[in-house]
Amino acid sequence: MASIPCPHCEQKTFSWWDKYRAGKWALLNCSQCGGRVCAHPWLLAALYFFYVWDVVLFGYLAYLDSLWYLAVMAAGWLILDYFSVYVPLSPLRSPGAAKTTEQPASPGESPAENKTE
Ligand SMILES: [Zn+2]
Repeated sequence: MASIPCPHCEQKTFSWWDKYRAGKWALLNCSQCGGRVCAHPWLLAALYFFYVWDVVLFGYLAYLDSLWYLAVMAAGWLILDYFSVYVPLSPLRSPGAAKTTEQPASPGESPAENKTE
């Protein structure tokens, strides 16, 4: 089931379904090291350009010409879904690991901290 290596710890902890979800901009958490992982964002952005192109072009052709273009649009969508599984995974820093991104854990906690000062 789990056959995709984690970019943090190189353990095979992600399944193809996880990879498909990553292709839908989902963030994944490694079950071994807890590292956060996403699909490569630039490649995903390029892929989503083609999703938009697919819907706009064949939607327009369906409006102009024949509703059969909606079937072509669906086929193109499935082809793009197929390629979205092969977008490589990219490691993300865990929250709080970098000093520059240090932020209060939640907005509800900061007023309580101010009272104690
Ligand atoms: Zn890992």
